[in-house]
Amino acid sequence: MPELPEVETVARGLAKRLERHKLVRVETRRGDLRWPFPKGFADKLTGRKVIKVRRRAKYIVAELDDGNALLAHLGMSGRMLLSKGRPETLETHDHVIMETDDGWCLRFNDARRFGMMDLVRTDQLEQHKLIKGIGPEPLGNAFSGPILAAALKGKKTSIKVAILDQKVVAGVGNIYASEALFRAGISPKRLAYTVQGDRAEKLAQAIKTVLNEAVAAGGSSLRDYVQADGELGYFQHRWRVYEKEGKPCPNGPGTVRRITQGGRSTFYCPKCQR
Ligand SMILES: [Zn+2]
Repeated sequence: MPELPEVETVARGLAKRLERHKLVRVETRRGDLRWPFPKGFADKLTGRKVIKVRRRAKYIVAELDDGNALLAHLGMSGRMLLSKGRPETLETHDHVIMETDDGWCLRFNDARRFGMMDLVRTDQLEQHKLIKGIGPEPLGNAFSGPILAAALKGKKTSIKVAILDQKVVAGVGNIYASEALFRAGISPKRLAYTVQGDRAEKLAQAIKTVLNEAVAAGGSSLRDYVQADGELGYFQHRWRVYEKEGKPCPNGPGTVRRITQGGRSTFYCPKCQR
């Protein structure tokens, strides 16, 4: 499942190829992904110029020249594929095809169809049912130690479960929650409301660091954020604790352990995370 750094890398790749270009042909090859496409979806996109492509939480937002924006989520298995020209044969799960005025073709391929696309007024994006209530962007200036501390006040869940809550911070998934807590030296089992002051500052910084490092790794390992086969955004990571159960802690004598919290795996070092 794509996490925030992959979505950021996909958005940057789309920005490089789509911004300032007109969509001259748009085609949906079925009526729905996770949900039905909005009425007139392809027609409304056809002829529109893409002004800006960005990310909000794990959503991709393509702002158009008519004041609308395309809102897209990759779901579990969604892939954005770029090619010069439309391929002669499409793949079974190529559900949306968009062609630009300079001859590039973008395909949205999604075998499991947990992905989604919708159209929204750009100035109403934050009120969209899927976006409303989502917390601050972890890489933005609005996210900081004091802001995180305030969001955690009174929360009696574990800190690991709390930072997966989109209302606390946007788009931090299971992998980066484990990695950030390890960097901050905070036990994933610690009660969320006890993460205040210095601890909250450390954790906010650790969240920014692990995400920024992954975004940078994605950008540097991919040419224009695109792989050789035209796929946007996926890349290899080196995690410190995630999926390292039984391995030595990279910081010292401890051993990485795996526990389950809120139905998800957490990886941590009991020796250096308190
Ligand atoms: Zn350790």
